[in-house]
Amino acid sequence: MESRLLDILVCPVCKGRLDYDRAQAELICRADRLAYPVRDGIPVMLESEARPLDGARPEPA
Ligand SMILES: [Zn+2]
Repeated sequence: MESRLLDILVCPVCKGRLDYDRAQAELICRADRLAYPVRDGIPVMLESEARPLDGARPEPA
């Protein structure tokens, strides 16, 4: 995905900037703790499609 896209894409919830997680192919909104999927290079900017980041850290305590 072109990094230039990141300059124009904003979170649909808070209109804030997003970070691209290349490994997961997700766009991260840190303010809302949501991860928007990128499918076939197309960012899916829908809150209903976003994955919540809360909790679910795979790292052992
Ligand atoms: Zn947001």
